[in-house]
Amino acid sequence: MKIAVSACLLGVGCRYDGAAKPCEEVLALGEEHVLIPVCPETDGGIRAPHPPNEIATFERALRVMDAEGADNTDAFLAGAQKTLERVREEDCTLAIFKAKSPSCGNGRIYDGTFTGRLVPGYGVAARLLRSEGIRVLDEQQVRVCLAVSAARHPGMPAALLAEAS
Ligand code: SF4
Repeated sequence: MKIAVSACLLGVGCRYDGAAKPCEEVLALGEEHVLIPVCPETDGGIRAPHPPNEIATFERALRVMDAEGADNTDAFLAGAQKTLERVREEDCTLAIFKAKSPSCGNGRIYDGTFTGRLVPGYGVAARLLRSEGIRVLDEQQVRVCLAVSAARHPGMPAALLAEAS
């Protein structure tokens, strides 16, 4: 199976602070699957390092703003679209994205106040991929899936990732 993966989870220093967030469990999936690195923010022309961004609601519209007040919504939308195109080109049926990110967050994101508070929601790219029928998990959800699969089927948790998702 081909899996699109947030590049920062694979060790690329593309996060806002220039760091990576390699995830051991996700990297291990590369033994059985083809992992395709994607970074919606890089695709949108946002180069690391840069101020952190969060999604906020202004006049009933979702906007992506950075901590210095710049509106980066257009770049995030463009990056999400490019990522979707790459995912389609590569024929990925699953994406594993970085939790809580304004691009990649899958179910919980920061609330737009830069205070560390989480709210239900999706990053821009995660929302787009989901709306186009691509299954999305974040690395925390992957850990849960793998743990459940390992308990049920010892020895082949990775192969059951798709089933568990
Ligand atoms: Fe990682 Fe996604 Fe942020 Fe890129 S946009 S740095 S892949 S969380």
